[in-house]
Amino acid sequence: MYDVIVIGAGNGGLMSALTLQEKGKKVLLIEKENYVGGLSHSFVRGRFEFDLGLRGMLGYENNATQGSLYHLFLRHQLEVEVASSKELYTLIAMNKKEIYDLPIGIEDFIEKIEEYVPRSKEPLKRFFDLVKEVNKAIKYLEENNNNPNKQILNREFKNFMTVAPYSTKRVLQSIHMPPKAREILESYALYLGCPATELSFVHYARVLVSLIQNGFTIPIHTSYDITSQIFEKYKELNGEYLLNSEVKEILVSQNTAHGVILKNGQKYESKYIIANISKRKVLESMIKKNLVPKSAMELEQARSLGARGIVVYLGLNKSAEELNFKKYMYLIYNSLDSFKEFKKMKKTFSGNIVATIYNNAYASYSKKGTCIMEISSLIYGDDFTCHANSENYLEIKDKIADHFITTFENATGKKIRDSIEEMEVATPLTFARYSGHPSGVILGYLPYKEDGMIPRIVNASKEKEIHNLSFCGSFASPTMGFASSLINGEKVALQCIKEMER
Ligand SMILES: Cc1cc2nc3c(=O)[nH]c(=O)nc-3n(C[C@H](O)[C@H](O)[C@H](O)COP(=O)(O)OP(=O)(O)OC[C@H]3O[C@@H](n4cnc5c(N)ncnc54)[C@H](O)[C@@H]3O)c2cc1C
Repeated sequence: MYDVIVIGAGNGGLMSALTLQEKGKKVLLIEKENYVGGLSHSFVRGRFEFDLGLRGMLGYENNATQGSLYHLFLRHQLEVEVASSKELYTLIAMNKKEIYDLPIGIEDFIEKIEEYVPRSKEPLKRFFDLVKEVNKAIKYLEENNNNPNKQILNREFKNFMTVAPYSTKRVLQSIHMPPKAREILESYALYLGCPATELSFVHYARVLVSLIQNGFTIPIHTSYDITSQIFEKYKELNGEYLLNSEVKEILVSQNTAHGVILKNGQKYESKYIIANISKRKVLESMIKKNLVPKSAMELEQARSLGARGIVVYLGLNKSAEELNFKKYMYLIYNSLDSFKEFKKMKKTFSGNIVATIYNNAYASYSKKGTCIMEISSLIYGDDFTCHANSENYLEIKDKIADHFITTFENATGKKIRDSIEEMEVATPLTFARYSGHPSGVILGYLPYKEDGMIPRIVNASKEKEIHNLSFCGSFASPTMGFASSLINGEKVALQCIKEMER
């Protein structure tokens, strides 16, 4: 009999398991693969080690400003070396051949946008003031366990209360951002996996402003350095674990979870279960159908699965300098209309890509005289999985690589084809294998405004339909992503301890 069984050793599961073990609980961590990390992983091709995807850890901020992720690492004695991009990103709109080089630092950012779009300065100042209040309000919510005094909220965070239910586009319009400046700002919504017409302003603004202040921060030894460190710490504390062990069923009696059965038939009992997997998968296939509460299924089906990903990893045999790469990241879109482009991104070949040159955040990210680049695209829906099969899979991967590289070369005028030493292509099928998530989703649920950060924070405690079963990771946190899945893993573990003590 364990106190807690944690299913899945991705960011959320590892952090939950470590936190529980540190607090003296008897824990069993179960992972289907023979390695830990889930989507926070790396792989090696030739002389290159590629991160599976992490291009920016939100919440770390930087060594000077120290955000919530920095403090999480500190609390658990994880030593993570990081580097940050020196600028925000270069935005390219192919239809009108527009190029915007966006800097970091609020003042520089305002100046730059004003240069591109005169009369943006005042609305931008209003935007940054508003985000300051939003950040204070979120801090207040967190400090009060998301159970705030409504009078205080209405009195001290009036603007936050006004904008909280609205989309990014609606709020930017309401503060009279000039249309072109709005388009430039809104284009970041697509990166977050949602059009600006739907993405909650609060979510969008917090992320964008943190990036404007700090740039993109990456672990210089890849995200696997972090997940493997957490696992090592867990093992040092004698945490028990099973690798190569897929959980097939979660046992539930009288609406209370009490154990799991593995694919090999082995059964383990526990007082509590934390699942680092999507609630959809658990409700649809891991609990006996007649034991799933109707309300849980209805709520789950009202949510939309988030973006799937396609990534082309490139190991180049020249340095970033030799290739004349000056930027860390390029956002290359057909147009700056995020709603129109979101619709196009239901197809595999949408023409919308993000290119990242890791050596421009940390020069020694790869061996001397080389550089690591990644070109990716999000897909909303099952276009890829509907068209790929065992016969055409490799052919589609080649086509994707060709399409992404051509799009990058046409947009930037930089030639990379002749410098490719290693190349790998990951598709939604690859990510489904790494994570076990439905359709290879990499970003949890779509962060629509009605299912965005604030509703998720406020309603989290009401979403516990089965006793002694909690969820952690990107499908369970108010915002999806690397940092939030780690932070949420710790939070869910502490909540679980409280519930067990009650
Ligand atoms: C290409 C790409 C780029 C990304 N870029 C960024 C970025 O720049 N910034 C950012 O913040 N985030 C980024 N992310 C997202 C981030 O990596 C993820 O949000 C985070 O790693 C998810 O962690 P998680 O806790 O949800 O666990 P997951 O990584 O989803 O892991 C789940 C684990 O559970 C295991 N599992 C599943 N089913 C079972 C079962 N039945 N039994 C046992 N084990 C099971 C899986 O094998 C896996 O190890 C990116 C992701 C990808 C793929």
